[in-house]
Amino acid sequence: MGSYADYCRRLFGRPMLKLTIDGGFSCPNRDGTLGTEGCSYCCGEAFSPAYCRGGKSITQQIDDGIRFHASRRRSATGYLAYFQSYSNTYAPLDILRMRYEEALAHPLVSGLVIGTRPDCVDEEKLDYLASLSKQHYVMVEYGIESCYDRTLASIGRGHDYACTCHAIQATARRGIACGGHLILGLPGESLQEMVEEASLLSLLPLTTLKLHQLQVLKGSQMGRQYLCHPGSLPPPFQLEQYITLVCDFLERLRPDIVVERFAASVPPSLLADPARSWRHPDGSHVKGSELSRLIRAELARRGTSQGFLHINK
Ligand code: SF4
Repeated sequence: MGSYADYCRRLFGRPMLKLTIDGGFSCPNRDGTLGTEGCSYCCGEAFSPAYCRGGKSITQQIDDGIRFHASRRRSATGYLAYFQSYSNTYAPLDILRMRYEEALAHPLVSGLVIGTRPDCVDEEKLDYLASLSKQHYVMVEYGIESCYDRTLASIGRGHDYACTCHAIQATARRGIACGGHLILGLPGESLQEMVEEASLLSLLPLTTLKLHQLQVLKGSQMGRQYLCHPGSLPPPFQLEQYITLVCDFLERLRPDIVVERFAASVPPSLLADPARSWRHPDGSHVKGSELSRLIRAELARRGTSQGFLHINK
């Protein structure tokens, strides 16, 4: 199972760091076009690190992001501008052009990762991104969240799975790298259904995938629901149970899909239900790197690997 760091090394020949950028975009599920409350698990605040806030230009955010990572001893020789907050293709094309090209003009930025909703791309935007991808690395990262229409309806996404499939296929057809984001543990989904999502996603031309356990955030609809009726949401995964689920999922996932992360990591101050973030007996948090080690160890114990049960269709 290749890591995202290996993927970057293969593509760029060196380690890369992603710099989160707030491009000042909105989301149709928040601006009233589809709704005002957002998806039921979403809390806009969780998206942006502090260095993105305060109406800074994109160049300023990149410079501050590089300094922020350097202060944490995380440096790289190349950076990807990660347009992460809200829906980063949700604006007229001339605005998108300005934002993306300002990021690409930064001498240390080698490419773009653009997070968005599947219903916020169209032929014109994808054609533009395809032309950009001839000169620069471009990945569009789609919020998939679930492969089941009943779940997508219940969490208020405002689009169905067919829309997701169409956007990913239209993007990949143009030679643009595609990422996906999936939440495990959404209300109403059984463990078996979550595992089966691996086979459904394997049918799509995805390059990368991020897995997240359901987090219940303050300020989200689910956060409010949890505070009033804690029992109305599915119970949090125990760590061992989540490792089993992810390994079952990985065994069915196409082996070339790079799994970029296995779980969400949200600042504890934003969690309405802290039990959804795992801790050691001494109270310290289980880090993402530790979780990936445990997942790899479980696959090794089983004698399997990503794609072990994948059937080419
Ligand atoms: S999760 Fe994404 S699509 Fe949903 S409300 Fe939040 S920003 Fe919008």
